[in-house]
Amino acid sequence: MKESRKSSIEIEKEEFRKIGHQLIDDISDFIGSIAQKPVTPNESPSQLQEILGNQPLPENGKPASELISTSTDLLFNHSLLNGHPKFLGYITSSASPIGALADLLAASVNPNVGAHVLSPIATEIEKQTVRWLCEFIGVPSEYGGILVSGGNMANFTAFLAARTAKAPKSCKEDGIQSTSKRLTVYCSKTTHTWIEKAVILFGLGTKSIRWIQTDPSNKMDLQALETTIKSDLENDCIPLMVVGTAGDVSTGVVDNLSEISTICKKFDLWFHIDGAYGVPAAIIPKLRKLFHGMEDADSIALDPHKWLYSPLEAGCALVKNPQHLIDTFSSHPEYYNFSNSGDGVAQNFYEYGLQNSRGFRALKVWLTLQQVGRSGYEKLIGEDIQLSEMLFDLAKKHPELEAVSQNLSITTFRYIPLENPKNKEYLNQLNEKLLNELQAGGEVFLSNAIVFEKYCLRACFVNFRTSEKDVKEIMEIIIREGRKVHLKLSQQLS
Ligand SMILES: *Cc1c(COP(=O)(O)O)cnc(C)c1O
Repeated sequence: MKESRKSSIEIEKEEFRKIGHQLIDDISDFIGSIAQKPVTPNESPSQLQEILGNQPLPENGKPASELISTSTDLLFNHSLLNGHPKFLGYITSSASPIGALADLLAASVNPNVGAHVLSPIATEIEKQTVRWLCEFIGVPSEYGGILVSGGNMANFTAFLAARTAKAPKSCKEDGIQSTSKRLTVYCSKTTHTWIEKAVILFGLGTKSIRWIQTDPSNKMDLQALETTIKSDLENDCIPLMVVGTAGDVSTGVVDNLSEISTICKKFDLWFHIDGAYGVPAAIIPKLRKLFHGMEDADSIALDPHKWLYSPLEAGCALVKNPQHLIDTFSSHPEYYNFSNSGDGVAQNFYEYGLQNSRGFRALKVWLTLQQVGRSGYEKLIGEDIQLSEMLFDLAKKHPELEAVSQNLSITTFRYIPLENPKNKEYLNQLNEKLLNELQAGGEVFLSNAIVFEKYCLRACFVNFRTSEKDVKEIMEIIIREGRKVHLKLSQQLS
């Protein structure tokens, strides 16, 4: 080896500049023309495999410029574009362009945000981001937390903190089998699937979940919650936590948080809120009352990559007393020298969550919060809600549509043909087929929800690119396709 090492992985300054400029030009064009593209090219796995080719691991390297240019084409032309104004599926937002720049910048410096000494400014930026997220949703500054990859991980992080805090202390050393009593957790039937993963992964088992029924408004039935807790206490169980949902994934309903909080206090249970989707709506003054009781939560999960429009991945776990995270996740191996911190006490994020080495996902959240500001978010989120209400009203007025539910920014509705509109099973079948047609068509992307046993089309507005014009056009597409699918299906069945 010569004195200065020439390595195949390095990209020299001038070349990097050239490739980078070209890439940024291409991305600008992509963002500028996204509305004219299909939402999805709807290619099959085998078509995509053919495009990719079946070559083995490359033996020798290729020029970076060529690789970046090929990948740009691949991604722009063969992706589902959740940044498209007519993408309203699941809860995946359009990504803030500044978030894309932030990820490039973060990866270029590549701080390891596991320890302060390895990521001095990045750690402080993440701490500030967490503080701002608390302010955003309106919980006191005593909360602390950590950025994670998404809602599932945020909920897992809080779940583990709850288990540490509320399970018998012997569990830390002897495991949960150290008690013969069953540890139980409480949540409504609308709770996201993360809870099942959590009880399986963290040793409680699926029988530990008490699925509490919902009332007619789809909120957790609190009478049933209290009865179930009491009966478990009489039957040798150890209730740990109640999960309230702030914006359920299907229909956007927010549980009655303040009453859940009262019940948690009464029985000394951990109160967790899954606000992965909905909690940013607390920034809207007239919706604030929906979230009363949130400031009593022991922990809250939220997802900047949903309604804060951050690019994937960014979730956040907030805990009222962050010491619970340290009690749960901290360890001090001899090979870490992370405790010398100059003036204050350095916060080492590896002690606050599941990850050890950690990327700088805070940067994209931090920058978007500053680019948009509190007032900007109030406007964006408010507009998303208005568009959802507009779609609901249009569906209500249209003779071939039934408006089914509207909460936060989620609208569910279904197509109902003018003739024979009452056959329950037929309508479910028809709407499922319609959804598949719409998704494959590439003009609009909706998802589905089963609401009151009705198979519904579901539109979730977490998309700053969607306009009223889009909503009107989407209505036309649905009616046009609904008629077609009905014609075909009714002919098949007759
Ligand atoms: C999306 C969502 C989750 C899961 O979040 P991911 O970011 O997909 O892991 C959990 N709970 C609720 C209420 C959600 O909306």
